[in-house]
Amino acid sequence: MTCEELIAHLSSYIDHEMDAALVAEVQEHIAHCRNCRVVLDTTQRLIVLVHDEGRRIIPASQRSALFERLQQAFLNRPQTQSQSDQHSSEDSAV
Ligand SMILES: [Zn+2]
Repeated sequence: MTCEELIAHLSSYIDHEMDAALVAEVQEHIAHCRNCRVVLDTTQRLIVLVHDEGRRIIPASQRSALFERLQQAFLNRPQTQSQSDQHSSEDSAV
C-alpha cells in the first residue's frame, strides 16, 4: 500500500468500514511510515475530540472536506528522505 492509497482509505479505516485484509495493510504501512502514522493519528484524534464534545461524529460533509484537506496537504508535502540518503561517498576504504 502506498501513502496515497492509505490516505484515500483513511475515512473508511477510521469508520471501521474496511476489509480486514485492508486494515492489515494499513497497519503494516503505518508501522513503517511515520508520515501516515501522524496523519492517521491526527485525524482520529480530531474525530474523537468531536465525539467527546457530544456530537456523535463529524458530519459527512465536514468530514470529506477534512479528508480533502489532508490529502492535499499530504500530496503537497515537502519531499523528505525518499531516495537521497545513505549516499555518502568519499570514504570507501576497501
Ligand atoms: Zn505512508
